[in-house]
Amino acid sequence: MTAVANSSSSTLADFHRRSIEDREGFWREQAGLIDWHRPFDQVLDYSKPPFARWFLGGETNLCHNAVDRHLSTQANQPALIFVSTETDQERTYTFAQLHREVVRMAAIIQSLGVVRGDRVLIYMPMIPEAAFAMLACARIGAIHSVVFGGFASHSLASRIDDASPKLIISADAGSRGGKVVPYKGLLDEGIALASSKPAAVLMVNRGLAPLERVPGRDHDYAALRERFFEAEVPVTWLESNEVSYTLYTSGTTGRPKGVQRDVGGYAVALAASMRHIFCGNPGETYFCTSDIGWVVGHSYIIYGPLIAGMATILYEGLPIRPDAGILWRLVEKYRVTVMFSAPTAVRVLKKQDPSWLTRYDTRSLRALFLAGEPLDEPTARWISEGLGRPILDNYWQTETGWPILTVAHGIEKTPTRFGSPGMPMYGYDLKLLHEQTGEELGANEKGVVAIVPPLPPGCMQTVWGDDVRFVNTYFSSIPGKLAYSTFDWGIRDADGYYFILGRTDDVINVAGHRLGTREIEESISSHPAVAECAVVGVADTLKGQVAMAFTVLKDSGMASSPESAMALEGDIMAVVDRQLGAVARPARVFFVNGLPKTRSGKVLRRTIQAVCEGRDPGDLTTIDDPSALEQVRGVTGKR
Ligand code: AMP
Repeated sequence: MTAVANSSSSTLADFHRRSIEDREGFWREQAGLIDWHRPFDQVLDYSKPPFARWFLGGETNLCHNAVDRHLSTQANQPALIFVSTETDQERTYTFAQLHREVVRMAAIIQSLGVVRGDRVLIYMPMIPEAAFAMLACARIGAIHSVVFGGFASHSLASRIDDASPKLIISADAGSRGGKVVPYKGLLDEGIALASSKPAAVLMVNRGLAPLERVPGRDHDYAALRERFFEAEVPVTWLESNEVSYTLYTSGTTGRPKGVQRDVGGYAVALAASMRHIFCGNPGETYFCTSDIGWVVGHSYIIYGPLIAGMATILYEGLPIRPDAGILWRLVEKYRVTVMFSAPTAVRVLKKQDPSWLTRYDTRSLRALFLAGEPLDEPTARWISEGLGRPILDNYWQTETGWPILTVAHGIEKTPTRFGSPGMPMYGYDLKLLHEQTGEELGANEKGVVAIVPPLPPGCMQTVWGDDVRFVNTYFSSIPGKLAYSTFDWGIRDADGYYFILGRTDDVINVAGHRLGTREIEESISSHPAVAECAVVGVADTLKGQVAMAFTVLKDSGMASSPESAMALEGDIMAVVDRQLGAVARPARVFFVNGLPKTRSGKVLRRTIQAVCEGRDPGDLTTIDDPSALEQVRGVTGKR
């Protein structure tokens, strides 16, 4: 394979320019960072825009690159470090041990009838078996679809129906803040609600919650692990463009989209990002506090660090339990060199005694990366001064799989700027476009952050099972141009630093978790007392945004007293908890007589949002019934 260009001699601007002007040459070099079983014949096939196919004809495997590949040099070095402050467990798997567990899991999955191309839905807490399951699927060419453990039955059902998994892998329970969160009831309810039924369910029993097995369908992981203890399962070599996984994400409709990712492009993109952006080296430790249910967990808890030959910490717990020093204690203990978290976690820490930041030796840490939501300046300053380490904001999406905007210190030590995630990363032909004209905008002009296709390796290939939706959703919103819309507003300063100014759609971001307001509205509307509702995201000092629901009841008398309103609010929240999960629960459910709408009946969500945030709602001439907005002001106390 070709050697990767020595990036230290290049500036980020040169590196970026080359990645766009000589796309094929650039990515051919980056492809040398991973192992190929069979070399690719062609770097890029872009004959059917906007669909891009990378490294055609090449055969590789994510599990091989993450695990097997390191066995000859790093077999006895740590690979997976599991820490649970929920169950007080701490266990390290070397690459050799991780390999054994993944092979056993692969044998179990195969024994349950799963073959290459079948889908396996993984609904699990942050335990090692979740990592084994993902890597085992990758090993045999099964397509995993991880559903965040905080989601509940309806979220599960819609994903089961879309992915039609042959197998679901789950556990008896997760745990959050010392409280057991049973999974099995939600899982059974999800399967009952779905029209597509998995042939088998594999249950990991942690002994945290009762487990009722469905005979013939449910299987016990521990028993099967014993049976396949000595199994051998070779890697299945996959063509670069076969599907590695799908991951569901929310958009403007109530139906989540299955973001579909390939094998070779993803492996190359992650390997390149580990080198140029995260600057992690083999034998070091990476600590990402996200969850495997999110894209950050896929890319930077599991695949990225392992592909780079690093040990990765899988952490089940909160940042302030048993105390606010836990993250830094782990940094010290495992000599973490690269850390990745979310601004919300830092804002949680900010409420604690700041001396926690300096009680441990965190000098091993080269940088703390933060992503998933806007990083406000006070939070960035607080953590950067408190920790004395570089804080690197990075902006990206489930769809892209790796950072779009940041600084790439493996290429050039570009200074950071508070409030800005940085500059376009190599491979992304980023533009700011005018929402209505599609015209390209210059410095200091606000526009839609868009990517001129082809999207670089690692980005989504399509929406699972729905190419039309892929094109219609992402490539059809900017007039006159084939451009991928991020649905984020942005602005670029004269020096090329970008600033993200919020979403152009109704997607909200709660504590770094992306939620569709329509899904929450649909859930609330399923409550028998509710006639209609509108959910908006409202700025929150801790979580970035929280969901607020405005609900019109079929019988307004049901919430006429403060007691009945409070009871009904709790009832509605419980519906959301049960259907979507507590992560989607609105912070408040307000009862109103009518929703502010235009004369044509469109709910004025932005207007409601502005009122909730105490901002000027702007032009109100299209509003049908101004008293509805007055009521929103009244119930939220924003008069
Ligand atoms: P998700 O796909 O769940 O990762 O959410 C992606 C969305 O989160 C983006 O489209 C942005 O709206 C927001 N986001 C992610 N990272 C950042 C960041 N560093 N700064 C500002 N917004 C961000």
